[in-house]
Amino acid sequence: MDMDQLLAQVVQDIEPQIGSGVVADYIPALAQVDPAQFGIAVALPDGSVHGTGDWTEPFSLQSISKLFTLALALSENDESIWPRVGREPSGNAFNSLVQLEYENGIPRNPFINAGALVVTDHLAGVVGDAADSVLDFLRAEADNPQIDCDDDVAASEAAHADRNLALAHFLASYDNIRGDVPRVVDQYVRQCAIAINCRDLALAGLFLARHGLRRDGSRMLSPGQTKRINAVMLTCGTYDAAGEFAYRVGLPGKSGVGGGILAVVPGRCSVAVWGPGLDKRGNSVAGVAALDRFTALTDWSVF
Ligand code: GLU
Repeated sequence: MDMDQLLAQVVQDIEPQIGSGVVADYIPALAQVDPAQFGIAVALPDGSVHGTGDWTEPFSLQSISKLFTLALALSENDESIWPRVGREPSGNAFNSLVQLEYENGIPRNPFINAGALVVTDHLAGVVGDAADSVLDFLRAEADNPQIDCDDDVAASEAAHADRNLALAHFLASYDNIRGDVPRVVDQYVRQCAIAINCRDLALAGLFLARHGLRRDGSRMLSPGQTKRINAVMLTCGTYDAAGEFAYRVGLPGKSGVGGGILAVVPGRCSVAVWGPGLDKRGNSVAGVAALDRFTALTDWSVF
């Protein structure tokens, strides 16, 4: 299969959907992004990467960062995060508070905001600064030291962080945030505000397709841990539309309100797509359509 031809076909097939959807505006800096952009990149296990469209244009990583904090928290066979966060789809909005009270401050999964705040707090307890740790990881895997936090996006989100501060304080009341609450939220905001392009994101996600092996061949996660992260992505990675995403695309995927999605074909490749226009559930319209075409044309879904 010629990957470049295949990606050109994907883009041609989804052309009418590029620019559809609504750009996230609850973080004001994200509202400025032109919705008529689209990029896709595929990284293969040998480290080669193919892409087309706006695949070298940086966008806001947002919730996709939750996947990297989880992987870093689990690295070196450390499973101690699991008593603090569950692994079930939430059925509520990504920033919801309601479930926490009747489940004693244990968030449903690591990919809703409450769960991600717990993971960031946990990782900060091990490495000092979770956002810096994510940045180091992304730079190393993409071999790109230029990847950085977008300070404007971070400042914009920090100025509208009441909901995340409320979640973190509430979690702290159950002793499930152990660090200083404003410091944990600051790290969470900075990990979300990382700017990255499809090329670098596909390369950074390749360890999930390589059963836990990093770019330099070192082991980050065991094959079993990698399988489980992919499982949590499949069931919880695309907001309250994980069932629809599994139905249409059939791959583990993690989306963010910046319009990016990272998807994994275990053993074969990682795929990063970006289109800023979101559907009602918060997933990129063009991104989901492209992954749908990608698995249809390659027959590479996990099902
Ligand atoms: N930084 C965003 C928030 O906490 C992440 C949202 C997302 O991409 O789902 O609201």
